[in-house]
Parts: sequence; structure tokens; C-alpha cells
Amino acid sequence: MHKPQFSLEVFPPRRNAPVGTIYDTLDGLQGVHPDFISVTYGTGRSADRTATARICHTVRKEYDIPVVAHLTAQYLNEEQVDEALDMFKQAGVSAILALRGDAVEGREPTGVFHYASDLVSYIRQHQPDFQVFGACYPEGHPHASTLDDDITHLKLKVDAGLSGLISQLFFDNEEFLRFVDKTRTAGIHVPIEAGIMPVTNASQIQRMVSMCGSRIPNNLATLLERWGDDPEAMKQAGILFASQQISDLVSHGVDGIHLYTMNHPCTTRRIWNNVAPLFKATTPEVEIRV
Ligand code: FAD
Repeated sequence: MHKPQFSLEVFPPRRNAPVGTIYDTLDGLQGVHPDFISVTYGTGRSADRTATARICHTVRKEYDIPVVAHLTAQYLNEEQVDEALDMFKQAGVSAILALRGDAVEGREPTGVFHYASDLVSYIRQHQPDFQVFGACYPEGHPHASTLDDDITHLKLKVDAGLSGLISQLFFDNEEFLRFVDKTRTAGIHVPIEAGIMPVTNASQIQRMVSMCGSRIPNNLATLLERWGDDPEAMKQAGILFASQQISDLVSHGVDGIHLYTMNHPCTTRRIWNNVAPLFKATTPEVEIRV
């Protein structure tokens, strides 16, 4: 049996938040043992590669955890991508999550990196020491005309030199498992980590779902209806829902789990305490190693 990967995602604190909040998040994650932590990168006004690089440096050097830096490229030119990659290298980053990023109203893309696959090719060509990962969408990217089209584009991105994929959040495991089957049939054979977002707050999840288009299955809708107005009960129910989702996915042999922490260490620790034994399995086969 292979050992699935377990990774976490954190984001730089908002510009008006005290700098120390990221330390609170990372300190709060002590006791959780991820294979790596990924650090997001803003698009548009919140884009700040120094913030991503600084947090990567802290995770790598102070917490000794492998780190993946996200990089969105549609508003960058080659020189800016070079600068970002140099900064990440100095911060001890060994892998990049190469992204196109979302469109920002009123801002013209540079036209250099149209799709994430352009960034993947660029990194493979200019900085081949980095491992490169990409994003994927079990229910299709919101702008793709069909899931099959999206998978055709995904294959081009993987063939440009990806070592692995990390999925968008989803709540219906069947949907994810069907997606993985489709990618394998399409000739995509890199490991795919399943993106799990704990639902601990009913309004937060409505916002997320409207942004990324993930479907809320009936069992989650029932939880939201029953506990949505009771924050403490909703949090507990959400932690259990995410833990069960992870347990079911691991039983189905997924390559890995990527937990969107939302910078909430307490929720993350509680989920980890529920699922940690599932990540102790034996002989590795397919792994995203950074
Ligand atoms: P792409 O892979 O380029 O795909 C975008 C769209 O273009 C898709 O519809 C695809 O089907 C289509 N497409 C791709 N190639 C072609 C082609 N050759 N011809 C025609 N169509 C094509 N956003 C941030 O701003 N910062 C982050 O840190 C961040 N982290 C993320 C992490 C994960 C795991 C995920 C799943 C998403 C993340 N995002 C982040 C959001 C992401 O930037 C958006 O979803 C964005 O809209 C798409 O980025 P992409 O890299 O997936 O794009």
C-alpha cells in the first residue's frame, strides 16, 4: 500500500493584518506533520511576491518543512518571473505551483504567460532545478466550456513538465474520483492531491462555492441547514465532515490530501488528530516529493 501525501496551504496575512499573525498560524500548526506547506500568491492589488517568499523562508528555515511557492503569471513579464524565482530560490523553495491566476477587472495581462502551461514551460526551460506543480479542477475550471475540454488543456499543462497536480476544493468525493479516472484515461499519470476545505462557517462556504463553482452535495447541505446558525456546532460538524472526506479518499487510494487551512491552525490540528494514522502507511509508490 502506498503512503499518501499530506500537505497544507497557508496564505500571507492581509496587508492590514499584523505581520506576526503568520507566526501564530505556523506555531499553531506544530504537531501536524505535513509533507510540505504551500504558500499562496496574490493576484492584482494583493500580489506581493516578497510576502510569499518571506513566509516560504520562515516555513523552510524556522520550521524545517519543505515548501511550495505559488506563482500567478498572467500579469508578469519574463523579468518579473525571473525575479520571483530568484527570490523563491533564496528562500529555500524547491517547488513552484505554477498558475495563470484570475483576471483582475481593469487590468491588462502582459500577454507573455497566457496560460499556466506557458509558465510551466518557462520554469522548466530557465530554472530546471525547481519541481513544478499545477492546479486542477475536479468539477472543471469555471471558465472551461466542458470538463473534457478542461482535461485536454490539463494534459498540455502536465506535458509541459509538471511533477504533480493539486486540486481545487470539492465536497463530493465521487466527483473527484471520477475526475481522476478521466485524467488517467486521458494519459495524465502524475500524482493528484485532493484539495480539502473544512467547512466551519456557513457564509464563508457560500462565498467560496460561488467563486469556484464547487457543488454542495446533499449531506453537506443538510449539515449547513441544521448547524449553519450555530457557529460552535457548525465548526465541529465541518471538522468531522472534512475528516470523513479525507478518510474515504485515503481508503480509495488517492495520491495525497492538500488541506486548505485558511490560516486556522486549531481546525487544522483537530482534523490532523482525526486522520494522522491514515498517513502512516507503508512502502511508497507514487509521491509528490519536494
Ligand atoms: P490554467 O491552467 O491556465 O487554466 C485556466 C483556464 O484556461 C481553464 O479554463 C483551462 O481549461 C483554460 N486553458 C488552459 N490552457 C489552455 C489552452 N492551451 N487553450 C485554451 N484554453 C486553455 N490564485 C491566486 O491568485 N493565487 C494563488 O496562490 C492560487 N492558488 C491556487 C491553488 C490551487 C490548488 C488552485 C486549484 C487554484 C489556485 N488559484 C490561485 C486560483 C487560480 O489562479 C485560478 O483558478 C485561475 O483562474 C486559473 O489558474 P490555472 O493556473 O489553473 O490556469
